[in-house]
Amino acid sequence: MADSYDFRSFERSWQERWERDGIYRADDASAKPKYYAMDMLPYPSGDLHIGHAKNYTLGDAVARMHRMMGYEVLHPIGWDAFGLPAENAAIDRNIDPGVWTTESILKMRRQIRLMGTSYDWSREIATCEPEYYRWNQWLFIRLYEQGLAYKREAPVNWCPRDRTVLANEQVEDGRCWRCGTLVERRKLSQWFLKITDYADRLLDDLATLPGWPERTKTMQRNWIGRSEGVVFSFAIDGLDERIEVFTTRIDTVYGATFLAVAPEHPVAEALTAIVTPEHAAAMAAFAASLKSKSELERTSLMEKEGIFTGAYAIHPLSHERVPIWVTNYVLADYGSGALMGVPAHDERDYEFATRHGLPVTQVVIPPSAAGSEAFTEPYVDDGKLVASGDFSGMSSAHARDAIAERLSAMSIGGKSVNYRLRDWLISRQRYWGTPIPIVYCEGCGEVPVPDGQLPVILPPRALKVGEGSPLASIAEFVETTCPACGGPARRETDTMDTFFDSSWYYLRYLSPHDDRAPWDPESAAHWMNVDQYIGGAEHTVLHLLYARFFYKFFIDRGWVTGRDEPFEHLFHQGLVLRDGDKMSKSRGNVVGVDETAERNGVDAMRLFLLYVTPPEDTSNWTDDGISGRVRLLNRIWRACEPFFARHSDVEGRPATPTASSPAEKSLLRAVHVVAKSATEETRSHRFHYNATIARVDELVNAMTAADEATRGSEAMKYAVNALPVLVAPFAPHIAEELWARMGHAASVHLERYVEPDMSVLAVDEITLVVQVNGKVRARVSAATGVTEDAAVALAMADPNVRAHLDGKEIRKRIYVADKLLNLVVG
Ligand SMILES: [Zn+2]
Ligand SMILES: [Zn+2]
Repeated sequence: MADSYDFRSFERSWQERWERDGIYRADDASAKPKYYAMDMLPYPSGDLHIGHAKNYTLGDAVARMHRMMGYEVLHPIGWDAFGLPAENAAIDRNIDPGVWTTESILKMRRQIRLMGTSYDWSREIATCEPEYYRWNQWLFIRLYEQGLAYKREAPVNWCPRDRTVLANEQVEDGRCWRCGTLVERRKLSQWFLKITDYADRLLDDLATLPGWPERTKTMQRNWIGRSEGVVFSFAIDGLDERIEVFTTRIDTVYGATFLAVAPEHPVAEALTAIVTPEHAAAMAAFAASLKSKSELERTSLMEKEGIFTGAYAIHPLSHERVPIWVTNYVLADYGSGALMGVPAHDERDYEFATRHGLPVTQVVIPPSAAGSEAFTEPYVDDGKLVASGDFSGMSSAHARDAIAERLSAMSIGGKSVNYRLRDWLISRQRYWGTPIPIVYCEGCGEVPVPDGQLPVILPPRALKVGEGSPLASIAEFVETTCPACGGPARRETDTMDTFFDSSWYYLRYLSPHDDRAPWDPESAAHWMNVDQYIGGAEHTVLHLLYARFFYKFFIDRGWVTGRDEPFEHLFHQGLVLRDGDKMSKSRGNVVGVDETAERNGVDAMRLFLLYVTPPEDTSNWTDDGISGRVRLLNRIWRACEPFFARHSDVEGRPATPTASSPAEKSLLRAVHVVAKSATEETRSHRFHYNATIARVDELVNAMTAADEATRGSEAMKYAVNALPVLVAPFAPHIAEELWARMGHAASVHLERYVEPDMSVLAVDEITLVVQVNGKVRARVSAATGVTEDAAVALAMADPNVRAHLDGKEIRKRIYVADKLLNLVVG
């Protein structure tokens, strides 16, 4: 037995013991209140670095706190195991993606266990297993039956590098979310999920999620992009067709001096019948020039190009002839693929009109304007209508209603709601994903695979470089018989977007090996919804939107009950940088989990990640930072060491004793300050355990600084027994080792957390003034006699102080005990 703190002698063996004893297994039948704490399921990329470790460490602290606060905690983990990186890695190495994925999972599972995480491994899932993806297929068919999965030809986003289509949510600033290549537009026949049917609920129900970060909700709101306006149509001079447009500014309709349509709009084709051959040829050439252009290039990067079609529309109210142009900046699949051009009141239309010599007609003026002022620039705000027929003189708001009514009375339009959200494109022309369970029969058409024939198994190793679905080249897969008529049929060869897999995995954890249903409804009734979800902010309009859509569908089917949102609280942890830089293999600055655990120990790594900043902030890895945490662990050890195996009452913890001296009083108080911080940070879902760990520092100081009399007191005995319990959620290994050495038989992780006692807390507290460069930035409360180090730690836990430090190095600190701390930065 080592005499000093030696993490190597116990960290691994405790992990094995916890696993063997199954102390983190969630009991479905427990009478305790349930708590479902979930981390976003990782993609098995192979190697973990310290940035990933931050997520798991925070999730683990949250799960452990709840367990110790009396909850039955479900804290599962699994693998988002399908997807392109595995397929590409497998092509590079000429091996099966399944083999590569299995190896990566093995490696990552070992590393995640190494971090001392308290997952219930009995519920582990991997989405690439037939046992899992069978239910993707089952769910797809249920969506299909409800008309929520459908195939149609549409212009779609195509990544030329990954050789597959992408959902709109996977295009960021016109580029592929995965590889950054400019996305092209192609017209292909693809499978979509009708998420737009849920647009209103997905939008409105964000208001029922106070436990989500505001920024995430705002991004979802903007993505769904609900706008209220008017849909109406223009007649075409000389053609029995109409062009429909949507606008939020119908009050500017008299200022429409042209119509802009996408070259892919069906009307463009129809117009060629009434225009001169020269115009028709020019339109065809223009359309061809845009064919390979990305959406980003068309809408943002390119000049606002266009050509006159030679045809005119008739303005429905003024009856004037309005020229029809085809333009690059209108896309066929947004809105109706056509819009009215109002250069006087829209920046983009103004730019286009001035470039092409189109008239600018002002029809709205500022409320205070006389109307005689010369036009200088587009006026985009509401105002007063001029030159607008019967509507002149009305306010914009009034005119919007009045004009909508008029168009409605004319039966050519009316009020309408438009969304930015499009249906979710789930077809992928890649191998490593769930086969879409549809067959095509000459006689019966599109036929879903019957439930009894699921899963449609992904054939082994169909790697193919080049375009088209790899599965299409495997005859044994493609050729099948029609489930309806028994005749020859062909299988669908596209696979599903892997975001399908992750849209419902939180339910699979509830009965991971169930072969009768995707999940057990009784377990779902017990455990759902997820109380706390923790993961990165990068999936805000992808996974987090799709999962909400699926859950609402499940609610509608009655497969889950209660709240129709899957995630009650959501937390996005910040990144970890190294000396200010993002960690990456190419920079060679990656801090690995294995090396850190080996050098400094798992507890030090965990404490560092929880302590260095509040969890939502970006933290910076430094060697000094981890050394500081190693020192704290050493001090915790030394504070407890004199009490190893000295107790006769090893059965449990002593109750809070009555203090018989001021020193004892402040010692007891220090215990309850930690308990109060940890409990409050947990209940508030703020998880600023950095502040809690700063309080642990104070407690250890109080213990080591105690005089002879206090050292032998009941108060000290109480504090020594409380310390392992207090640090158990954050540094679980040292907590367990100290607890055992004090003579306790059961695991410290089965203990109840210290309940903060207000009567113990209500003693001498001082207010410390914190300055940055001589200016007061915060006032923090601390115990009398707080040390300089602890004072700095408390100051650093304050967001305002951190904001003013702005990541700069502290050059000098001036400490006036119990009064003032001034941090000087360069
Ligand atoms: Zn790509
Ligand atoms: Zn058939």
